[in-house]
Amino acid sequence: MDFLPIFMNIRGQRCLVVGGGEVAARKAALLQEAGAEIVVVSPRLSPTLTEQVRRWDISYRQGRFCATDLDDVVLVIAATDDEAVNREVSELARARALPVNVVDNPELCSFIVPSIIDRSPVQIAVSTGGASPVLARLLRTRLESLIPSAYGRLATMVDGFRDRVKGRFADVNARRNFWEQVLEGRIAEMVFAGRDEEAVAALEKALVSGGEQKVGEVYLIGGGPGDPDLLTFRALRLMQKADVVVHDRLISKEVLELTRRDAERIYVGKERDNHSVPQEQINQLLVDLAKQGKRVCRLKGGDPFVFGRGGEEIETLTENGVNFQVVPAITAALGASAYAGIPLTHRDYSQAAVFVTGHLKDGTMNLNWPALAQPNQTVVFYMGLKGLPVICSTLMAHGMSAETPIALVQQATTPRQRVFTGTLGDMPERIAGEEVKAPTLIIVGNVVKLHDKLSWFRSEAMIAKGE
Ligand code: SAH
Repeated sequence: MDFLPIFMNIRGQRCLVVGGGEVAARKAALLQEAGAEIVVVSPRLSPTLTEQVRRWDISYRQGRFCATDLDDVVLVIAATDDEAVNREVSELARARALPVNVVDNPELCSFIVPSIIDRSPVQIAVSTGGASPVLARLLRTRLESLIPSAYGRLATMVDGFRDRVKGRFADVNARRNFWEQVLEGRIAEMVFAGRDEEAVAALEKALVSGGEQKVGEVYLIGGGPGDPDLLTFRALRLMQKADVVVHDRLISKEVLELTRRDAERIYVGKERDNHSVPQEQINQLLVDLAKQGKRVCRLKGGDPFVFGRGGEEIETLTENGVNFQVVPAITAALGASAYAGIPLTHRDYSQAAVFVTGHLKDGTMNLNWPALAQPNQTVVFYMGLKGLPVICSTLMAHGMSAETPIALVQQATTPRQRVFTGTLGDMPERIAGEEVKAPTLIIVGNVVKLHDKLSWFRSEAMIAKGE
């Protein structure tokens, strides 16, 4: 170990920053967060630092660093671009046994400033001992994504219970078990979901009964359009926590692989006109699993509340008193739009975007066609592949030009993505010989013209064909 990691209390203590540029401003901001009384010494100040001096009431001495600047300070940071000044600060500070940091120069430092993940009171510091600050920053980014932003609130909450838990469980192991249950279970999840009061009540209850009762719950999670990189941090965390995963056909293999390896997986299908498990049975299944005390991940394609019947599922949960939370996601329209280079709105072409279902019922679609057949908007049809001829002919019958551009985006955001473009007049014929696979999204409007210019994503099929 080249450095001893410690966390230092500098609240209300004088700390010196030598330098007036942007780097000095960043260091001053850090000291400010830790509550220090800051002194800045420099001949000049950058605009940022000038503003900080004003806003935070920092003492500023204009001029070159001199030895008396070190009087009465507990910590020193040198952030000038003058090597000689930095060296002088370092030597004089060390002579007085003051901790000193010289930015980007480990040799002149008696301490280094780590990359910080701040979930106060929880703090995680990453350091490479000065070898590579960029590497430390990359590691920090990785950790950031793993640690929910509400960890700080969780820590503050449990802090308030420490003495009582100590009193309740004399045995160290029993105490540790209790805290593990709380910090990895339902109570922690409540805090992450913003339900702090409920969490405190549940913790009170657990304290009385001697442990957390095993209560099941349901996470209604949007799995996004297919590319696993598009999952949210929260989705991933809950997917790895759940004991059971209930998923349907829209969930890509790549996304499903990110659920906990030992979790039970239940496929409830859902193909066009052939719902393998009726919706009511799915609703009931979720209730039953949760009542067995399981943490259930209900994983749905795209966003759970966009043509996902998520509303019906949680209605049943509410009626049965089952706890749940909903995790939003990238819906197919957003994924397809981004990966096919078709912006849904655009200054010149489209001032609105409308998402509708193109699901056929008795050969027609019950839609407000006059409203859809308007210029300057983009209309996205979900579940419209089978009804494509009806969509094209009905839009034209309501006054849209046969030349209006239209795109089909098959399996958007996955390695199997394919994009077909044409016009309302020729699209059904154009794809007659092609095997267009579900799920496919239909985008109608002038924004489709941008596809050739803005498309950037290359699927495996395109790479194989050398496109
Ligand atoms: N809740 C989902 C939509 C479910 S409806 C969401 O927010 O995306 C199912 C329809 O979504 C499919 O018929 C298809 O039109 C569309 N869809 C879902 N994933 C898709 C994908 N990766 N590519 C293209 N369309 C997709």
